[in-house]
Amino acid sequence: MNFCELCPRRCRADRFRADGTPGFCGAKDGVRLFRWGPHFGEEPPLTGKRGSGCIFFSRCTMKCLYCQNSPWSWRGEGDGKSVEELAAIMRDLALRDRVENWNLVSPTPYLPFIREAAAILRKEGVSLPFVWNSSGFERVETLEEYSDLCDWALFDLRYSREETAVMASAAPGYVEAARSAVRWAWSYNPDHLIVRVLVLPGHSDEAVESLAWLATELSSDVAVSVMSQYTPAYKGKETPPFDRGVTEDEYADVAEAAADFGFTNGWVQDMSSSDPSLALLGENMTSGHGPVSA
Ligand code: SF4
Repeated sequence: MNFCELCPRRCRADRFRADGTPGFCGAKDGVRLFRWGPHFGEEPPLTGKRGSGCIFFSRCTMKCLYCQNSPWSWRGEGDGKSVEELAAIMRDLALRDRVENWNLVSPTPYLPFIREAAAILRKEGVSLPFVWNSSGFERVETLEEYSDLCDWALFDLRYSREETAVMASAAPGYVEAARSAVRWAWSYNPDHLIVRVLVLPGHSDEAVESLAWLATELSSDVAVSVMSQYTPAYKGKETPPFDRGVTEDEYADVAEAAADFGFTNGWVQDMSSSDPSLALLGENMTSGHGPVSA
């Protein structure tokens, strides 16, 4: 591979050689990781009993002004890893930690290297399902080319309006790209798609519009995860309305819309509970979890 076109930015950076230049995302000719390990906060099918083996890649194709992971997504903190070192980390997660899957968090700039690491492990008889954990800002061509790394698609639908995607994430074309990615994943393996709808302060109507699109253009059988945990971070702290949390009313509007659109497969959170765990969509909850419908 020469000029990178892995993500919708298609910046064509000549990044895959030692004296190459970084892409728009900041990625260069090797893998860069910030953190890895078993994680128990993902949706239940991914967490399972032994946790999801999250691998947090440094750099990101999005530039979200409110990003909670800015030390590594924006500033690239982390360590460079060879393909062999990445394979060793994945091996440890599989054999020592016995996680349920390899959860690739924002993997897109590094897909060729991840595939090489997976090939090393496959020869040893080590394999796990891959979770492609993404903002949704993906190219369908890339998803098809690397579908072997997408046993599960965990994709966001973050915005429904182009102007918000540009303002908040410097991501022109996000809405079309993310919807195309979700559509692809739905046709590729509908049982292994989870769409995360993060409710953003002042933009809960966009979360409702994303749910409406899902219900009308795909199906209300899509598994959705309606997320309330937005916390102001990074430049969001100085940029209204991203400088505040989501109100209970904003979250309730989205959770109720999920029920109204007929989604019964997925999860919501109860903002009044100190327990951040996810409750099944459409069920009356006990133990601090609330129902979707008012
Ligand atoms: S993954 Fe990075 S280098 Fe590749 S096209 Fe996207 S922004 Fe450019």
